[in-house]
Amino acid sequence: MNEKILIVEDNKTLAKIIAKKLQSTLGLEADVAYSMSEAKLFLARYKYFLILLDICLPDAPNGEIVDYIAQKKLHAVVLSENIDKEFRKKILQKNIIDYINKNGVDDINYVLQTIQRLQNNKKHKVLVVDDSRIFRTQMQTMLENLFFHVISVAHGEEAIGMLQSQPDISLVLTDYNMPVMDGLELTKEIRKTYTKNELCIIALSSNEEEEVTALFLKHGANDFMKKPFSKEEFYCRVNNSIEALENIQMITNYANRDYLTGLYNRRYFFDTMNEYIDKIRDSGERFAIGMIDIDHFKKVNDTYGHDVGDKVITALADILRSSTNPHDVVARFGGEEFCVVLKNINRHSAQEIFERIRKEVENFSFHLEDNRSVTFTISIGAMLFNEEESLEENLNEADMLLYKAKNGGRNQVVFEA
Ligand code: GH3
Ligand code: MG
Ligand code: MG
Repeated sequence: MNEKILIVEDNKTLAKIIAKKLQSTLGLEADVAYSMSEAKLFLARYKYFLILLDICLPDAPNGEIVDYIAQKKLHAVVLSENIDKEFRKKILQKNIIDYINKNGVDDINYVLQTIQRLQNNKKHKVLVVDDSRIFRTQMQTMLENLFFHVISVAHGEEAIGMLQSQPDISLVLTDYNMPVMDGLELTKEIRKTYTKNELCIIALSSNEEEEVTALFLKHGANDFMKKPFSKEEFYCRVNNSIEALENIQMITNYANRDYLTGLYNRRYFFDTMNEYIDKIRDSGERFAIGMIDIDHFKKVNDTYGHDVGDKVITALADILRSSTNPHDVVARFGGEEFCVVLKNINRHSAQEIFERIRKEVENFSFHLEDNRSVTFTISIGAMLFNEEESLEENLNEADMLLYKAKNGGRNQVVFEA
């Protein structure tokens, strides 16, 4: 994928500052063109993810470059010294993403934030629901200009179908008045499955009645926009909703994961396992649990220090992650104790995998700065899950098996007899 940016800017110092910041903060390469003719040469040769446009150039002093860029359907953000409202409005009407005034460091930071936002947008799917084709197309174009993946449908029922086949949609923009299923019905229906923290809904309506706004918000819309709206308002509201969603997902991720290893923590383990157990009940699917504990870990800390102890823990986490499937569950229960769930597996394969993990750890080593080499071993107590007992009871039994492995001399797997 091409992630290069073209900066069109005749102020060489400013162009260089921006290029440097793009590289250092976002890791993005940038080319710099000092005039419209230079920009044309670059554009003829290379593809760019985004163009930062100064609109007052030596060979194009009146924003001529904006038309050139719009005509080529390129993504552009305008950087301008001109704060004249009418001029700004005129430029914004062309198909550009944003018009940013450049006065100081804060503005450059804002540009960087905008670029970061646009890059993140690529990860999001947006569903547009509107019975007016003109409006649908217009919104689709605006959203695609912000790098979203856009899907559009004509009414609520189609939207529900689309959400079933594409459950990873982040944002739904829905009109109010539509045939078959209106926007309000759609909002209520979506909220039966998705919370506000999982999927954002922005409602749109030309309806002048105040109560529609309140109804939408009461029934779970995250935001509301009255038609007609300006492109800037649209962009800001969409970005705000997506940012809120990302922040919540980030916090949830922190709450579910262990800080040192990035593995799931004990609390999340119980949540996700109880869900899984409910789901496979009566299906005949079997799964295995392994309690894993590092042998004589205290000695590792005492000999090499706590930091090296931490490295051992993260090394084990990496081994556990790489030797299991993505759908398996790997959690750090605390200290140097881990729990691994191998889903949809029989006794023989489970035993083999746990034995393979034990061996891999035994053969693993890393070197310290003073060239000393660090190795460690683990003990594992493992078994197939017994459906007749609770998760807690099963874990207690796995713990007993782990205890046996420790007493039996450590560096071994005790699989339930
Ligand atoms: P055994 O073979 O019986 O499991 O012995 P052990 O020394 O591994 O077990 P013990 O439970 O006696 O000691 C575990 C040690 O792990 C004690 C604790 O200080 C250390 N520990 C717990 N969490 C961390 C951590 O996050 N980082 C580091 N470096 N050490 C930790
Ligand atoms: Mg231990
Ligand atoms: Mg221990």
